[in-house]
Amino acid sequence: MYRMRTWSVRHARGLKKIYAFLEAIFVKADPLLRLIGHERLDRPLVFVESLTKGFLLDSRNCGQCIVGFTGLSCPMNCPKSMRNGPCGGVRLNGKCEVKPEMDCVWVQAWEGNKRLQEKEFPIQFVQPTVDHRRIGKSAWLHEVRLRREEIEAGAAE
Ligand code: SF4
Repeated sequence: MYRMRTWSVRHARGLKKIYAFLEAIFVKADPLLRLIGHERLDRPLVFVESLTKGFLLDSRNCGQCIVGFTGLSCPMNCPKSMRNGPCGGVRLNGKCEVKPEMDCVWVQAWEGNKRLQEKEFPIQFVQPTVDHRRIGKSAWLHEVRLRREEIEAGAAE
């Protein structure tokens, strides 16, 4: 829902803290999640993600969530699926050139980033292109696997 989407951007700081808290729990629970099997957990978690992130962020379930970098503005709501900043067509009033009834998701991302009040503007980090194999899969489990890889790589150094 568009109204909830803009509300979430306005409350980006608090929501990102909740998100980080939940992510830490998921990472800690990874041994158990692996025991159950990530494949088995994927569908139920996608269902929960669709309900929660769908409601709060208008999430499109790309399976590789980057809203922590975009001030809680889901870039998949961009009609051109821009993942690294706006196209050249943003209107002077900040509206999307394709859908003039909505704010450009990157104008929203900028506002959300300001509200995060973090030392570094997360929006400045370059994001990989969308991996279409991940669309419709659990972004939370994906994040857990990425964190595990980071931890393992750190331990190996
Ligand atoms: S104006 Fe913004 S939301 Fe619209 S297509 Fe361009 S980048 Fe995407």
